[in-house]
Amino acid sequence: MNIHEYQAKELLAKFGVPVPAGYAALTVEEAVEASKKLPGPLYVVKSQIHAGGRGKGKFVELGPDAKGGVRLAWSEEDVRAAATDMLGNTLVTIQTGDAGKQVNRLYVTDGADIEKEFYLALLVNRATGRVSMVVSTEGGMDIEAVAHDTPEKIETFDIDPATGFMPHHGRAVANALGLEGDLAKQASSTASKLYDAFIGTDAEQIEINPLAVTKQGQLLVLDAKVAFDGNAMFRHKDLMELRDETEEDPAELEASKYDLAYIKLDGDIGCMVNGAGLAMATMDIIKLNGMFPANFLDVGGGATTEKVTAAFKIILSDPAVKGILVNIFGGIMKCDIIADGIVAAAKEVNLSVPLVVRLEGTNVEEGKRILSTSGLAIVPANDLGDAARKIVAEVQKAA
Ligand code: GDP
Ligand code: MG
Repeated sequence: MNIHEYQAKELLAKFGVPVPAGYAALTVEEAVEASKKLPGPLYVVKSQIHAGGRGKGKFVELGPDAKGGVRLAWSEEDVRAAATDMLGNTLVTIQTGDAGKQVNRLYVTDGADIEKEFYLALLVNRATGRVSMVVSTEGGMDIEAVAHDTPEKIETFDIDPATGFMPHHGRAVANALGLEGDLAKQASSTASKLYDAFIGTDAEQIEINPLAVTKQGQLLVLDAKVAFDGNAMFRHKDLMELRDETEEDPAELEASKYDLAYIKLDGDIGCMVNGAGLAMATMDIIKLNGMFPANFLDVGGGATTEKVTAAFKIILSDPAVKGILVNIFGGIMKCDIIADGIVAAAKEVNLSVPLVVRLEGTNVEEGKRILSTSGLAIVPANDLGDAARKIVAEVQKAA
């Protein structure tokens, strides 16, 4: 689960992480009012969308020559002009995709006098099973380019969960950033607090870019991207309230309401599968047969008719879908129940594309009987390879 920069900074501040003062704003007037509460003379007006690269982003409505989604302002008029440009307009960044994201919220912060920009991130390192700290002197610009062109400028180290963050980790961060004296102490303390925040919120990622040193010798978090582990959110009711559903993909949001794991992809074949491993295998075998999956969809172990119907509707809401492949292994879940669900759903949504169903497992014969007597044009398949070949053939026939 992702949150906005302003929420991330407010959260990190509670853990003692140094962030500039700032206020969120939904209107131009609120943005101007926010700036009046800040000391000045420099303000930063920042578009709040769930995507990075805002500074270098472009607003569709303003053309290629206009400034991006993060602007420096030296006066009330500057703040007003920046807010007017941003609110309601669509910002395209390297992370939004071509469609961009509409800016509905701003964050007006106290502007810092930047001396140097660093990069500092914490993430779950799946290879080592630990929290990793990733540190680089090359902050501000996009870290992917640094990783590609000058990987030696990025240092990564793991933190043992048994010891937690130790003083030597703090020294490692300061060293990696080439800091000494008081700034080294600030770096160590900030890294330690970020680790506390990471563990305390069950975060999946905390990315600070830039972590800035100001001309006044202060280390400040100027941008923060925080993502939480969705599976841990049940124990963070307060953090759940930070969720901004308008930032999420509508189909993925709908899927989450039914507890369906759905990810939109670029292909033509909609997939409905139970179990993540089987879903991956199904996607692979579709590709092997020359077409591409339109989605990943795991209906889970306890799929009901409602869930199957919701899954069908979500798959069909994607105009790119030219056929559906249902591949279910009935273990705990029985094939006849699945078949009932498929028939009910196919009737309810007025299925207009070819549908291939492969069932295997408990009560499979009864399941197949239900499908074949349903009166619907469902193509049965015997195994995974057969199913993939059939859906590809059906889609090509229909084209
Ligand atoms: P992003 O483009 O989405 O990553 O947004 P950032 O918050 O990182 O802002 C982009 C760039 O704006 C930063 O790398 C800085 O160079 C600049 N910037 C952000 N905040 C300040 C500030 O307080 N003072 C100054 N001078 N520049 C800032
Ligand atoms: Mg940034």
